[in-house]
Amino acid sequence: MTFDELNLVPALLDAVREQGYTQPTPVQAQAIPLVLAGHDLLAGAQTGTGKTAAFTLPLLQRLHGGPKGSEGQAAQAPHDAPPKRGQSRPIRALVLTPTRELAAQVEESVRVYGKHLHLKSTVIFGGVGMNPQIDKLARGVDVLVATPGRLLDLVDQGRLDLSKVEILVLDEADRMLDMGFIHDVKKILRLLPAAKQSLLFSATFSDEIRELANGLLRNPQHIQV
Ligand code: AMP
Repeated sequence: MTFDELNLVPALLDAVREQGYTQPTPVQAQAIPLVLAGHDLLAGAQTGTGKTAAFTLPLLQRLHGGPKGSEGQAAQAPHDAPPKRGQSRPIRALVLTPTRELAAQVEESVRVYGKHLHLKSTVIFGGVGMNPQIDKLARGVDVLVATPGRLLDLVDQGRLDLSKVEILVLDEADRMLDMGFIHDVKKILRLLPAAKQSLLFSATFSDEIRELANGLLRNPQHIQV
């Protein structure tokens, strides 16, 4: 299996090549086609398996393909037209992670893999000042990577509208629950539109994770690496 067989647009293939990756890892080979096809996903994958690229690459391609309702147009969409200045840009993809370190790493991956696309990303987490995060959000963000607590603080302050989210990723969902974020996560899920694509990645599957997955995912495809 090569990356060329995964139907990724040239802008993403170039970014992957520039990272020096020669072939997709098993979780990437399995997840990328399913996510590109629009499926919800329940993925069992540990850290170190390449799971970040497994959700980031197809997520970027789905956003790049155009706003909701233009599924299947990804391959034809131009990627040389930056959005107009001043245009309002709702948050289109939300990635929730349990820790600030992971949030920062995931957002770095979004930047690296998306470097040839015109999508904006940012990361927000607790323990640092809110104002720089508020400023970045106000400038418009397509992909937001966040930890649950700070995300809710910013929602409560009216700084964040999650009503246009098209793709949600729960990364390391088991750790998120272990760290006591279940209520925050459920609160966040209630702020998202019902019609969206949801991806849940977890290293382990407790009853609590399965219950969360059952409430969130619609006809999910299951993968385990
Ligand atoms: P992750 O499991 O997402 O934390 O990724 C683990 C590490 O694998 C990261 O340092 C990635 O840069 C690297 N990686 C991801 N995909 C590939 C690939 N297809 N080939 C080689 N390295 C990769």
